[in-house]
Amino acid sequence: MVGDVENHVFKTEVARLLDLVVNALYSRKEIFLRELISNASDACDKLRYAAQTEAALQGDGSDLDIRVKLDGPGRTLTVEDNGIGMSRQELIDNLGTIAGSGTTAFMARLSGDAAKDVALIGQFGVGFYSAFMVADEVRVTSRRAGTDEAWTWTSDGKGSFAIEPAGAHPRGTSVALRLKAGEDEYLDPARIESVVKTYSDHIGLPIILLADGKKDRINAGSALWARPKDTITPEQYREFYHHVGHAGDEPWLTLHNRNEGAIEYTNLLFVPGARPFDLFSPERKHRVKLYVKRVFITDDCQDLLPAWLRFMVGIVDCEDLPLNVSREILQTNPVVAKIRGGIVKRVLTELGRKAKDDANGYATFWEGFGGVLKEGLYEDRERRDDLLGLVRFRSTAIDSWTSLEDLVGRMPPGQEAIYTISGDDPKSLAASPQLEAFRAKGVEVLLLTDPIDEFWVPTIGTYKDKPFVSVTRGEIDLAKIGGTEGEVPTPTVAGPVKSLIAVFKLALGDKVKDVRASTRLTDSPVCLVADRGDLDLHFERMLKTHKRLETTSRRILEVNPTHPLVTALAARVHRGDAADQVEEMAHILLDQALILEGETPADGPAFVRRLALALTRGLAA
Ligand code: ADP
Repeated sequence: MVGDVENHVFKTEVARLLDLVVNALYSRKEIFLRELISNASDACDKLRYAAQTEAALQGDGSDLDIRVKLDGPGRTLTVEDNGIGMSRQELIDNLGTIAGSGTTAFMARLSGDAAKDVALIGQFGVGFYSAFMVADEVRVTSRRAGTDEAWTWTSDGKGSFAIEPAGAHPRGTSVALRLKAGEDEYLDPARIESVVKTYSDHIGLPIILLADGKKDRINAGSALWARPKDTITPEQYREFYHHVGHAGDEPWLTLHNRNEGAIEYTNLLFVPGARPFDLFSPERKHRVKLYVKRVFITDDCQDLLPAWLRFMVGIVDCEDLPLNVSREILQTNPVVAKIRGGIVKRVLTELGRKAKDDANGYATFWEGFGGVLKEGLYEDRERRDDLLGLVRFRSTAIDSWTSLEDLVGRMPPGQEAIYTISGDDPKSLAASPQLEAFRAKGVEVLLLTDPIDEFWVPTIGTYKDKPFVSVTRGEIDLAKIGGTEGEVPTPTVAGPVKSLIAVFKLALGDKVKDVRASTRLTDSPVCLVADRGDLDLHFERMLKTHKRLETTSRRILEVNPTHPLVTALAARVHRGDAADQVEEMAHILLDQALILEGETPADGPAFVRRLALALTRGLAA
């Protein structure tokens, strides 16, 4: 079969990635070894799991291990494993496209600015392709478990790779790097040993160094989570986090516990320091791997954690599940459900502790993951009370995040409701006209900016008997609240303003549901609100954007009875003066209110024409 070489061109995104990797003047190139060992370890885990149900795959039964071979004269470093291996097609698919999770995450973050992107390589580790940081040629020879054909994949990392049949090869994969000039340090056994100790000591399999005719085991060789906590250094935890999470940041929270109740399991879980790019993808999958007695079972046991904790990364190793447990069995398994309950409790307790002891750290956590945690308020009735203690909000009163408890503590006497306003970002929300009277009266309003807020707030309805009330819906009466500052607009409306409102109603017709005098404006002339029984403005807009709603309901235009523009217009109406101009103003004001809501006037050109006319008149007067 010799000579059957087939050439393939890399997919565009791989070529782009390789270009970056090859040209990276990167100071921590040694991470390539961590990536290759990590892949080898995953491959052994997969084999061990597959062999649970298909014993023949294990073949001669030889122990799983990872070997690093150094060949000085040949300037070659080889990482070998006797794991699951890859078929010809898998070599093409896995090493010719961007399939790896870590690499996909990396690509999603690329900015196009070479210097920044190269720095990212260090943060992420780009899996297999990082070999090209130190090698000018990589040869991967692999035999898939259960088959007898081996194939070799070769590339210089410059746009294409070749696939050809290999001769006899043991089960598993060998990745041979022909080192670039200047990379001789990776032929030095002491250097390799130190790199492995730094990055891969947590790997549960033996890592064996073969150099200068000697054979040494260079890692501790027991799964990190099975070791006593006081023997594990922070660096080891961090490296393990990088390994399981395909991440490059610092974990913010590490939870390592052995649970010895009715069900025995160990968890080593992390809350990442930075938000992964796919946190809000529709799959809502967590990245926690399930092991049974140190044997990898699956990274897709979604029942292990609720979706609202999907930012967690790590492993759970259970003593009380059978090794040959299947995916179907896992789905309805009471053991899994118990573990899930235990983990949820532990995570929430620990988050509560952090919120108390490290408010700044918790704020950063909240910025990254709060939007996910809040999903639990909607989905998990049982955990609602715990979660209500953990949620944080932006509000009109303070610059930092606030808890509901603190918010209620700050309420002036007489305030019976928790006021909220929803929108896309806190800045523009804080400038909403609907907030003016609240601000004048010193009444704090929560700014809700996560889409999930639209769901949990109505589901929960109240906190400590105080209902959540949107400031952009229904009528607002702040008179009962005994604030010390400011005055609320008086509800008594002068006769001319009443007439003006009647004129506006006529002019706007069915463009609005109603026009009325406002009790929530102090500075702006008008604003829009939803009627009591209608959907809140922001929620309706959201549903419309997602095509869940055809048309929005008609809104109520509220008019500030004390605004100079309003009183001037009212005076004209009273005098029976320039009726057409008053009508024009009704349309302009409605369109302005729409713009403030982030919407566009129904008839843009008409808005511009009316505005120009009004301005011209103003200048001419
Ligand atoms: P990642 O490790 O993030 O998935 P890589 O680029 O490192 O990404 O690897 C891509 C894929 O190639 C892996 O997901 C795996 O399926 C396969 N692979 C890599 N190395 C090996 C190996 N030593 N044995 C078996 N499969 C491997």
